[in-house]
Amino acid sequence: MYEKTENILKMAKESNTAVISFVCIDYIMARTVVCAAQATNTPAMVMLYPEHVAVNHTTGFENYATMVKELAKDVTVPIGLHADHDFSYESIVNTINCGFESVMIDGSMYDLDANIALTRKVVMKARESGVCVEGEIGHVGAASAADNNKADSYTKADAAEKFCRETGVNSLAVSIGNAHGEYIETPLLDMKRLEEIHAATNVSLVLHGGSGIPDNQLLAAFSKGINKFNLGTEFIGKYFDAVSDFSIENKNNPDPVKIINLATYVESRLQPYAEERMRTLCHF
Ligand SMILES: [Zn+2]
Repeated sequence: MYEKTENILKMAKESNTAVISFVCIDYIMARTVVCAAQATNTPAMVMLYPEHVAVNHTTGFENYATMVKELAKDVTVPIGLHADHDFSYESIVNTINCGFESVMIDGSMYDLDANIALTRKVVMKARESGVCVEGEIGHVGAASAADNNKADSYTKADAAEKFCRETGVNSLAVSIGNAHGEYIETPLLDMKRLEEIHAATNVSLVLHGGSGIPDNQLLAAFSKGINKFNLGTEFIGKYFDAVSDFSIENKNNPDPVKIINLATYVESRLQPYAEERMRTLCHF
């Protein structure tokens, strides 16, 4: 069933665990997550990365929101819909108007005051329609540039407290040794910093850049206030591998419409992965 992310985050907080928010570029990935959630009886989120609409054209905002809500109707487990990193007030308003009840405004490239001003403006607007907002302070950079080792951009507890108090966000993405993409070396999360941020705030904390962080670190982080965990790179990589294998296996298949089997093939390859991640990491 479709569930507002605000309620899923609340469930995760009460269970001292995290919900996995999977970056899904299209129907195949979204359906995989919904089926895996049902199979494991675990709440999950399907997350749109807005650039995939604007740049990669893998989907549209309105049809993505409708698609996820339609898929969620077929299962009994809570399924959330969320829009990841967006950078302007105007585009967030558009995303909300397209049916998203959960968005992220990323002002982490600005200084604290400018980030607070932008995020607060988005929260005020979002509240009019009960939309849940995720913010970010400190900056989660790129794993390929080893940004996860750059402590200058880590989230500071006092700034996090001020940010949450002045913006009213529902959740907060933190930078504690994590980064987006494929890590060069195994990352090491700053757990002490996470504890300090958790003690200073009362919102759900979010960990971006989940691909490649060892499970023991993830589970430790979930016990210290991380209630949402974004998984993209690894999941999308598995999609590519499945398409490659499908292509090889069907190279000599004379059926002119063989491509029609791609979706079920990819799903059968991705679903065990999604289920394994949910069973290992989510303890609702
Ligand atoms: Zn992110």
